[in-house]
Amino acid sequence: MTKALVLEGVDAWYGAAQVLFGLSLRVAPGEVVALLGRNGAGKTTTLRAIMGLVPRRRGRIEYGGVDLTGLPTHRIARLGIGYVPEDRRILATLTVRENLEVGRQPPRPGAPVWSVSRLFDLFPSLASMADRSAGGMSGGEQQMLAIARTLMGNPSLLLLDEPSEGLAPLVVEELARTLSKLAGEGLSVLLAEQNVHFARRLAGRAAIVEKGRVQVEGTMEAIVADEGLRRRYLAV
Ligand code: ATP
Repeated sequence: MTKALVLEGVDAWYGAAQVLFGLSLRVAPGEVVALLGRNGAGKTTTLRAIMGLVPRRRGRIEYGGVDLTGLPTHRIARLGIGYVPEDRRILATLTVRENLEVGRQPPRPGAPVWSVSRLFDLFPSLASMADRSAGGMSGGEQQMLAIARTLMGNPSLLLLDEPSEGLAPLVVEELARTLSKLAGEGLSVLLAEQNVHFARRLAGRAAIVEKGRVQVEGTMEAIVADEGLRRRYLAV
């Protein structure tokens, strides 16, 4: 893994409304960084800006030294960036196995190589429902499937948008265990989250976003320990 993600002075707009203001952020190769902040702080927009999904943006976004500005989303994905959006985009009429096949892409140098059977080892609950239709799965199962399908693209960096949202505590726990195994494979992760307790299981470092800017950066440990900070910028 040799690719770093660098955002420097990123501005973004939806129509006339500016949503990101000079946002800067860095994810080192193999690092898990949490992007924390309340609803509407700009977390989703940051991930979308990286993927080239925000209509208007300015500033520098680089991955492995390649400038992503102006590249279409599919080219950005081909550089090894996998994006799991908040709404998961499961193909409800296809089976679990077919959903995974849809995500399949060639191996990439420096990134872990995934197959359906390797993913079934990582997500045993998906293996047991391989031939069932994805539409009937629970929220937690759909989240696992969305992550697994993105992994079929063999990314070296994973962008996760609030994966723990709406999931029962036991499922959140299972997800945290699985994602920490993934991080152990050397995958870099940028994790947008409101759930600090979930984020601290995975991330070493965090950036707190508020009003479209990174207001605070630090180790996850220091942020969790600072009650004033959590009260000011986070939900807890
Ligand atoms: P959430 O947890 O709700 O996803 P977030 O931190 O990810 O919060 P964003 O979704 O990035 O926040 O939203 C940042 C701001 O941009 C908010 O004020 C939101 O209302 C606005 N916004 C988001 N999407 C759009 C859109 N498609 N058109 C106009 N404004 C938008």
